[in-house]
Amino acid sequence: MRIDIATLFPDMLENYLSQSIVGRARKNGVFELECHNIRDYTEDKHRRVDDTPYSERQGMLMQCEPVYKCFKSVTQGRKPHVIYMSPQGKTLTQQRAKEIAELPEIFILCGHYEGVDSRVLDAIVDEEISIGDYVLTGGELAAMVLVDSVVRMLEGTLSQADCYEDESHYDSLLEYPQYTRPEVWQGMRVPQVLLSGDHAKIAVWRREQQIITTYKKRPELLEKAALTHEDLAIIHKLTNDENG
Ligand code: SAM
Repeated sequence: MRIDIATLFPDMLENYLSQSIVGRARKNGVFELECHNIRDYTEDKHRRVDDTPYSERQGMLMQCEPVYKCFKSVTQGRKPHVIYMSPQGKTLTQQRAKEIAELPEIFILCGHYEGVDSRVLDAIVDEEISIGDYVLTGGELAAMVLVDSVVRMLEGTLSQADCYEDESHYDSLLEYPQYTRPEVWQGMRVPQVLLSGDHAKIAVWRREQQIITTYKKRPELLEKAALTHEDLAIIHKLTNDENG
């Protein structure tokens, strides 16, 4: 997969995306990523890329031409899927991240200040993605969130697919509780079943715990999950217990 990111602050992204698991996968060629400074595409002698909005609002807006030139120069006639990080977009989900991970090439545009002149967005953007219903100062953090969630699902980033398939949100359920050594900490024991070595029993326990955790923390997710008769029986019991 190839990822290009257009931003006014490439160092912010480079710093994060060259470290830890994502950085290692990038180094190992699991995906290609380049950050492009939109300022390199302005003709302004002071390297300005923004101007005041016509709406008489305060603040500055990123201009069309530097963004468009950056896009044209980076893509060279190729047709990547173009994503604008925006509080107006659909909220990022694990499902959408998974679909994006299957695309061969994406181009991510990060806005800053008051945002970007709408005309260039109309000209090049395929999809707007938000990371939540709040407003950030720029799209860089949001782009890092998107890239991180996408590349961890590429083959070669994590050691095994079950590292993410077992995790929260993969199938609209939250993860079961996890424990590591020591066996007893401050009087609290690791559940006995996890020490049993009985894989079938452990699998049943994990599923049960996923249902209980999701019911307690994010019950609305259960509506989207594919539930078995056994899962429904657990939910039924939890509801009965709650209602006394
Ligand atoms: N004036 C814009 C509005 O009200 O819709 C907000 C602009 S925001 C201050 C500056 C930039 O940050 C945006 O262009 C976008 O790229 C990014 N941004 C802000 N909040 C975001 C969010 N929740 N998700 C993704 N990107 C966001």
